Amino acid sequence: MPHVIVQNCCNDGSCVPECPVDCIHPTPDEPEYATAEMLYIDPDVCIDCGACIDACPVSAITTDYELTTEMAPFEAMNAEYYRAVGSSADRDHPYADPRLGRKRPASDAATLRIAVVGAGAAGHYVVSELQSRIDVRAEIDVYERLAEPGGLVRFGVAPDHADTKKVQEQFTKSRAQKGVTTHLGVRVGEEVSHEDLARTHHAVVYAVGSLHGRTLDLPGAELPGVIAAADLVAWYNGHPDFAGLSVDLTHERVVVLGNGNVALDVARILTADPETFVGTDMTDEALVALRDSQVREVVVLGRRGPEHAAFTSPELVGLARTVPVVVEPEDLVEPSDDDADEQTRFYRTQKLALLRALPPASAGSGERRVVLRFGTPPTGITVSDGALSVAFDDHGAPGSLDCGMVLASIGLRGTSVPGVPYDEATGTIPNTDGRVLGPDGAALPGVYVAGWCKRGPTGVIGTNRFDARGTVDALVEDFHAGILRAE
Ligand code: SF4
Repeated sequence: MPHVIVQNCCNDGSCVPECPVDCIHPTPDEPEYATAEMLYIDPDVCIDCGACIDACPVSAITTDYELTTEMAPFEAMNAEYYRAVGSSADRDHPYADPRLGRKRPASDAATLRIAVVGAGAAGHYVVSELQSRIDVRAEIDVYERLAEPGGLVRFGVAPDHADTKKVQEQFTKSRAQKGVTTHLGVRVGEEVSHEDLARTHHAVVYAVGSLHGRTLDLPGAELPGVIAAADLVAWYNGHPDFAGLSVDLTHERVVVLGNGNVALDVARILTADPETFVGTDMTDEALVALRDSQVREVVVLGRRGPEHAAFTSPELVGLARTVPVVVEPEDLVEPSDDDADEQTRFYRTQKLALLRALPPASAGSGERRVVLRFGTPPTGITVSDGALSVAFDDHGAPGSLDCGMVLASIGLRGTSVPGVPYDEATGTIPNTDGRVLGPDGAALPGVYVAGWCKRGPTGVIGTNRFDARGTVDALVEDFHAGILRAE
C-alpha cells in the first residue's frame, strides 16, 4: 500500500529527507530536480511509514487506498517514473537536508541585518534559509508593495487550488518568528529607496518575482481584446493592479497563444462551472463576469508538437477532470528526436499517452470545452465587426479562428525595481549565483536576487527554496569575507 504524490506537489522537497528508505525522487541534489514536473514515490520501495505526509506543506501525499477517482492517474504516474528512470533502490546518495537537526545560532554569532524585497514564495524561502543558518543571526525586514503578502501563490495560483495555497501558512510562520518585521504596502524604489535599504542593512535581497506577461511579437498584438494570460490570472485573483481589467467574455470562443500551465489554467477557469469558485480567492467582479460569460470554447494554440508542450502532465490531468478537453489526432505526431534524457523522454511519452486518451475535437458537443492544438504557430491577429480573428499555420495550410479575446501565454518578465540593474532582454535582474551585477559586470556588494527575477520564470513554488539557498549561501559567504557593511 504505497504512498502517492498527487497533482498539487510543490517540489518543495520537504518530504524527501523524511523518507527512511530514500524512495522520493528526484531529490533536490539530483540533476533531474531542476526540470522535474513533480516529485514521485517509488511504490516498490515505499514501506508505507507515512513520515512524508506531515512534511508536505501542500497536502500532496496520500496513501494509494485513499486516492480519489480524480487522483487515480497519479498512482500510475508515480510508478511509471521509476520504470522510466530506474528504481530508487539503485541510487546510492541519500539526500541530507542541512537544515535538519540544526541548532540555534550561538549567542555570540554575528548579527546580519537583511532587507528582503517581496513577500512571495522567493522572499519566504530567503527568510527561511536565513533563519536556518547557525553561523549568523539574521534580523530581517521584509518589504512588500501590496497590502497582502503571498506574491504569485496568492495572486497567481488558481483560486480553487486551496491545497497549493496552503503553502502560505509556512510563509506566515517564518515571518512571525522573532527577528522578522514585515512592512506591507511599501514600494521599494518609490516610498523607500534602494540606497536607504542598502545603507541600513548588510544586504538587500530582491525577490520581486515576475508579474507581467512577455510582449507578443505578432501583427495585431496591440489590438483591444488581446491581453496577457497572466493579467487575466491576476484579475480573477484580485490583484489590485488589475482591478477593472477589460475582459470580454461576450463571444463564444477565446484563443490562448502558448500552452504552458498558465494557458491551461486560464482555459480551465474560463470553461469551468463558475460556482466552483464561490468562497475562493476569486473576486466578485470575476465571478459575475464568469456567470454571465458566453464563452463555450477555449482553443489553446501551441507553436510546436506535443513533445514540446510546455504544460505539465499534472496540469493536463487537472484540466481534463474539470472540463471536456479535445485534441486533433493529426496534431499528435510521435517525437522524432531521441537525444533527450530519460526524464524528458518519460515526460514526452506520458504527455502523448494522456493526450491520446482524450477524445478527438470533432467529438465535442454543445457543452463548454477546451481544444488543444499543436504545431499551429499563430501568424497574426485582425479585427472585424467587433470580433478578433487569429490566423495560424495549420500544418502548412492557413487556418483562422474567430474569437472575442486572445490571451497571450508566452512567458513572464521579471519585475524591475528603480535603482536596481535590470536586463530588458532576459527580463531578469543580472546576477551570478544571486549576486547582482552592476553595469560593469562586477558584483554589487550587498545586493542579491532570488526567485524568478533571478533565474527567469521556471520551476514551481518549491523550486524557489533551493534557489534561495544558493543566494543566501553567497550572501553569508560575502558577510564572512568582510564584504558587507551596514550603518
Ligand atoms: Fe517514504 Fe514512508 Fe513516505 Fe513511503 S510513506 S514515501 S517510505 S516517507
